[in-house]
Amino acid sequence: MRIPFVAGNWKMNTSRAEAEQLVKALIPLVAGVRDVHIAVCPPFPYLSHVVETVRGSVIKVGAQNMHFEKKGAFTGEVSGEMLKDIGCMYVILGHSERRHIFGEKDTTINKKVHQALEVGLKPILCVGELLEEREAGKTEEVVENQIRESLANISPDQMVQITIAYEPVWAIGTGKTATPEQAQEVHRLIRDWLQVHYDDGLAQQICIQYGGSVKPENAKTLMDQPDIDGALVGGASLKADSFASIVKAAI
Ligand code: PEP
Repeated sequence: MRIPFVAGNWKMNTSRAEAEQLVKALIPLVAGVRDVHIAVCPPFPYLSHVVETVRGSVIKVGAQNMHFEKKGAFTGEVSGEMLKDIGCMYVILGHSERRHIFGEKDTTINKKVHQALEVGLKPILCVGELLEEREAGKTEEVVENQIRESLANISPDQMVQITIAYEPVWAIGTGKTATPEQAQEVHRLIRDWLQVHYDDGLAQQICIQYGGSVKPENAKTLMDQPDIDGALVGGASLKADSFASIVKAAI
Protein backbone atom coordinates (compact mmCIF):
# COMPACT_ATOMS: atom_id res chain seq x y z
CA MET A 1 0.00 0.00 0.00
CA ARG A 2 1.23 3.48 -0.86
CA ILE A 3 1.36 6.03 1.93
CA PRO A 4 0.05 9.38 0.69
CA PHE A 5 2.53 12.22 0.69
CA VAL A 6 1.61 15.90 0.91
CA ALA A 7 4.39 18.48 0.53
CA GLY A 8 4.23 22.26 0.68
CA ASN A 9 6.39 24.27 -1.69
CA TRP A 10 6.73 27.71 -0.14
CA LYS A 11 8.70 29.01 -3.14
CA MET A 12 10.36 32.42 -2.50
CA ASN A 13 7.97 33.41 0.29
CA THR A 14 7.97 34.10 4.03
CA SER A 15 10.34 35.92 6.34
CA ARG A 16 12.15 33.95 9.04
CA ALA A 17 9.48 34.92 11.57
CA GLU A 18 6.65 33.98 9.17
CA ALA A 19 8.31 30.64 8.43
CA GLU A 20 8.50 29.89 12.13
CA GLN A 21 4.90 30.99 12.75
CA LEU A 22 3.68 28.88 9.84
CA VAL A 23 5.24 25.65 11.06
CA LYS A 24 4.38 26.35 14.69
CA ALA A 25 0.74 26.75 13.66
CA LEU A 26 0.91 23.63 11.49
CA ILE A 27 2.45 21.26 14.06
CA PRO A 28 -0.63 20.94 16.33
CA LEU A 29 -3.01 20.85 13.35
CA VAL A 30 -1.37 17.72 11.92
CA ALA A 31 -0.10 16.18 15.17
CA GLY A 32 -2.68 13.39 15.14
CA VAL A 33 -2.26 12.53 11.46
CA ARG A 34 -0.99 9.02 10.83
CA ASP A 35 -0.26 7.30 7.54
CA VAL A 36 0.42 10.46 5.57
CA HIS A 37 3.94 11.69 4.91
CA ILE A 38 4.10 15.46 5.39
CA ALA A 39 6.83 17.86 4.33
CA VAL A 40 7.37 21.58 4.02
CA CYS A 41 9.89 23.09 1.63
CA PRO A 42 10.92 26.57 2.81
CA PRO A 43 13.44 28.85 1.08
CA PHE A 44 17.12 27.96 1.65
CA PRO A 45 17.90 30.56 4.36
CA TYR A 46 15.19 29.24 6.68
CA LEU A 47 15.72 25.51 6.20
CA SER A 48 17.86 25.00 9.31
CA HIS A 49 15.52 26.98 11.49
CA VAL A 50 12.46 25.10 10.21
CA VAL A 51 14.27 21.76 10.69
CA GLU A 52 14.84 22.69 14.35
CA THR A 53 11.28 23.96 14.79
CA VAL A 54 9.60 20.80 13.46
CA ARG A 55 11.91 18.41 15.35
CA GLY A 56 9.85 15.75 17.13
CA SER A 57 6.74 16.44 15.01
CA VAL A 58 5.34 14.50 12.06
CA ILE A 59 6.58 17.18 9.65
CA LYS A 60 9.74 16.67 7.58
CA VAL A 61 11.64 19.29 5.64
CA GLY A 62 12.66 19.52 2.00
CA ALA A 63 14.57 22.00 -0.14
CA GLN A 64 13.28 23.46 -3.39
CA ASN A 65 16.39 22.82 -5.48
CA MET A 66 20.07 21.84 -5.30
CA HIS A 67 23.14 21.68 -7.52
CA PHE A 68 24.20 18.44 -9.20
CA GLU A 69 27.86 18.61 -8.20
CA LYS A 70 29.16 17.53 -4.82
CA LYS A 71 31.08 20.76 -4.12
CA GLY A 72 33.39 23.29 -5.72
CA ALA A 73 33.48 26.56 -7.60
CA PHE A 74 29.74 27.03 -8.20
CA THR A 75 29.06 30.47 -6.75
CA GLY A 76 25.58 30.86 -5.37
CA GLU A 77 24.74 27.18 -5.49
CA VAL A 78 23.79 24.75 -2.71
CA SER A 79 24.83 21.10 -2.68
CA GLY A 80 22.77 18.07 -1.74
CA GLU A 81 25.30 17.22 0.95
CA MET A 82 24.71 20.61 2.59
CA LEU A 83 20.96 20.01 2.60
CA LYS A 84 21.41 16.56 4.09
CA ASP A 85 23.84 17.98 6.65
CA ILE A 86 21.26 20.43 8.01
CA GLY A 87 18.55 17.78 8.29
CA CYS A 88 16.56 17.94 5.06
CA MET A 89 14.89 14.71 4.01
CA TYR A 90 13.53 15.75 0.60
CA VAL A 91 14.47 17.94 -2.33
CA ILE A 92 12.14 19.18 -5.07
CA LEU A 93 13.80 18.74 -8.47
CA GLY A 94 12.71 19.91 -11.90
CA HIS A 95 9.93 22.17 -10.69
CA SER A 96 8.28 23.91 -13.65
CA GLU A 97 9.56 27.27 -12.43
CA ARG A 98 13.11 25.88 -12.53
CA ARG A 99 12.47 24.44 -16.00
CA HIS A 100 10.74 27.45 -17.54
CA ILE A 101 12.20 30.48 -15.74
CA PHE A 102 15.73 29.14 -15.21
CA GLY A 103 15.97 26.90 -18.27
CA GLU A 104 16.64 23.62 -16.48
CA LYS A 105 16.74 20.68 -18.83
CA ASP A 106 15.98 17.03 -18.14
CA THR A 107 19.66 16.11 -18.50
CA THR A 108 20.53 18.53 -15.67
CA ILE A 109 17.59 17.34 -13.60
CA ASN A 110 18.78 13.76 -14.07
CA LYS A 111 22.21 14.68 -12.68
CA LYS A 112 20.51 16.32 -9.70
CA VAL A 113 18.37 13.22 -9.08
CA HIS A 114 21.53 11.06 -9.05
CA GLN A 115 23.38 13.44 -6.73
CA ALA A 116 20.41 13.76 -4.34
CA LEU A 117 20.18 9.97 -4.06
CA GLU A 118 23.91 9.66 -3.57
CA VAL A 119 23.76 11.87 -0.47
CA GLY A 120 20.59 10.25 0.88
CA LEU A 121 18.00 12.88 -0.02
CA LYS A 122 14.63 11.78 -1.39
CA PRO A 123 13.86 13.60 -4.65
CA ILE A 124 10.41 14.92 -5.51
CA LEU A 125 10.70 14.94 -9.28
CA CYS A 126 8.29 17.34 -11.00
CA VAL A 127 6.99 16.81 -14.52
CA GLY A 128 4.18 18.41 -16.47
CA GLU A 129 3.14 19.91 -19.78
CA LEU A 130 2.58 23.50 -20.88
CA LEU A 131 -0.90 24.61 -21.95
CA GLU A 132 0.10 24.73 -25.63
CA GLU A 133 1.50 21.21 -25.37
CA ARG A 134 -1.79 19.96 -23.88
CA GLU A 135 -3.78 21.78 -26.56
CA ALA A 136 -1.59 20.23 -29.26
CA GLY A 137 -2.34 16.75 -27.85
CA LYS A 138 1.27 16.32 -26.71
CA THR A 139 0.77 15.80 -22.96
CA GLU A 140 1.62 12.12 -23.08
CA GLU A 141 4.73 12.61 -25.20
CA VAL A 142 6.01 15.53 -23.07
CA VAL A 143 5.51 13.78 -19.73
CA GLU A 144 7.00 10.51 -20.99
CA ASN A 145 10.08 12.31 -22.31
CA GLN A 146 10.50 14.13 -19.02
CA ILE A 147 10.32 11.00 -16.91
CA ARG A 148 12.51 8.96 -19.28
CA GLU A 149 15.26 11.58 -19.37
CA SER A 150 15.08 12.71 -15.73
CA LEU A 151 15.14 9.11 -14.55
CA ALA A 152 17.90 7.89 -16.88
CA ASN A 153 20.07 5.20 -15.24
CA ILE A 154 18.06 5.12 -12.03
CA SER A 155 18.11 1.62 -10.56
CA PRO A 156 15.01 0.01 -8.99
CA ASP A 157 16.54 0.49 -5.50
CA GLN A 158 17.00 4.17 -6.24
CA MET A 159 13.57 4.56 -7.85
CA VAL A 160 11.75 3.57 -4.65
CA GLN A 161 13.30 6.63 -2.95
CA ILE A 162 11.73 8.98 -5.51
CA THR A 163 8.33 10.67 -5.51
CA ILE A 164 7.01 11.92 -8.85
CA ALA A 165 4.88 15.07 -8.86
CA TYR A 166 2.68 15.57 -11.92
CA GLU A 167 2.17 19.30 -12.20
CA PRO A 168 0.54 20.58 -15.39
CA VAL A 169 2.25 23.94 -15.87
CA TRP A 170 -1.03 25.65 -16.80
CA ALA A 171 -2.44 24.74 -13.38
CA ILE A 172 0.42 26.05 -11.24
CA GLY A 173 -0.41 29.25 -9.39
CA THR A 174 -3.22 29.99 -11.86
CA GLY A 175 -6.23 28.82 -9.85
CA LYS A 176 -6.97 26.39 -12.75
CA THR A 177 -6.87 22.80 -11.54
CA ALA A 178 -6.76 19.78 -13.79
CA THR A 179 -10.00 17.85 -13.41
CA PRO A 180 -9.59 14.69 -11.35
CA GLU A 181 -10.05 12.73 -14.60
CA GLN A 182 -7.40 14.72 -16.50
CA ALA A 183 -4.95 14.28 -13.62
CA GLN A 184 -5.74 10.58 -13.18
CA GLU A 185 -5.11 9.96 -16.88
CA VAL A 186 -1.54 11.29 -16.63
CA HIS A 187 -0.88 9.63 -13.27
CA ARG A 188 -1.95 6.32 -14.83
CA LEU A 189 0.37 6.95 -17.75
CA ILE A 190 3.28 7.56 -15.36
CA ARG A 191 2.50 4.40 -13.39
CA ASP A 192 2.25 2.41 -16.63
CA TRP A 193 5.64 3.77 -17.66
CA LEU A 194 7.11 2.66 -14.33
CA GLN A 195 5.58 -0.77 -14.81
CA VAL A 196 7.11 -1.16 -18.27
CA HIS A 197 10.54 0.23 -17.33
CA TYR A 198 10.80 -1.40 -13.89
CA ASP A 199 8.03 -3.82 -12.88
CA ASP A 200 4.51 -3.84 -11.51
CA GLY A 201 5.58 -4.30 -7.89
CA LEU A 202 7.76 -1.21 -8.08
CA ALA A 203 5.17 0.80 -10.04
CA GLN A 204 2.60 0.12 -7.31
CA GLN A 205 5.02 1.36 -4.65
CA ILE A 206 5.81 4.79 -6.12
CA CYS A 207 3.99 7.80 -4.76
CA ILE A 208 2.75 10.10 -7.53
CA GLN A 209 1.63 13.51 -6.28
CA TYR A 210 -0.59 15.93 -8.14
CA GLY A 211 0.28 19.63 -8.07
CA GLY A 212 -1.41 22.67 -9.54
CA SER A 213 -3.75 24.92 -7.54
CA VAL A 214 -4.56 22.23 -4.98
CA LYS A 215 -6.79 23.69 -2.27
CA PRO A 216 -8.82 22.29 0.62
CA GLU A 217 -11.91 22.38 -1.65
CA ASN A 218 -10.50 20.22 -4.45
CA ALA A 219 -7.91 18.09 -2.62
CA LYS A 220 -10.14 15.16 -1.75
CA THR A 221 -11.67 14.60 -5.20
CA LEU A 222 -8.20 14.69 -6.71
CA MET A 223 -6.66 12.33 -4.15
CA ASP A 224 -9.64 9.97 -4.40
CA GLN A 225 -8.39 9.02 -7.85
CA PRO A 226 -6.71 5.60 -7.83
CA ASP A 227 -3.29 6.81 -9.00
CA ILE A 228 -3.13 10.15 -7.18
CA ASP A 229 -1.21 9.55 -3.97
CA GLY A 230 -0.87 13.00 -2.51
CA ALA A 231 -0.20 16.58 -3.46
CA LEU A 232 2.56 19.09 -4.02
CA VAL A 233 1.01 22.32 -2.83
CA GLY A 234 2.20 25.85 -3.56
CA GLY A 235 -0.03 28.77 -2.58
CA ALA A 236 -2.25 26.86 -0.18
CA SER A 237 0.78 25.63 1.79
CA LEU A 238 1.44 29.18 3.02
CA LYS A 239 -1.57 29.01 5.33
CA ALA A 240 -1.37 26.43 8.11
CA ASP A 241 -5.12 25.68 8.16
CA SER A 242 -5.38 25.21 4.36
CA PHE A 243 -2.31 23.00 4.26
CA ALA A 244 -3.53 20.96 7.23
CA SER A 245 -6.92 20.47 5.51
CA ILE A 246 -5.17 19.18 2.40
CA VAL A 247 -3.08 16.80 4.55
CA LYS A 248 -6.27 15.51 6.18
CA ALA A 249 -7.92 15.04 2.79
CA ALA A 250 -5.11 12.60 1.98
CA ILE A 251 -5.95 10.25 4.86
C1 PEP B 1 3.77 24.29 -7.02
O1 PEP B 1 4.44 25.28 -6.88
O2 PEP B 1 4.33 23.20 -7.08
C2 PEP B 1 2.32 24.43 -7.11
C3 PEP B 1 1.62 23.38 -7.40
O3 PEP B 1 1.78 25.69 -6.87
P1 PEP B 1 0.22 26.07 -6.65
O4 PEP B 1 -0.34 25.06 -5.68
O5 PEP B 1 0.23 27.45 -6.09
O6 PEP B 1 -0.43 25.98 -7.98
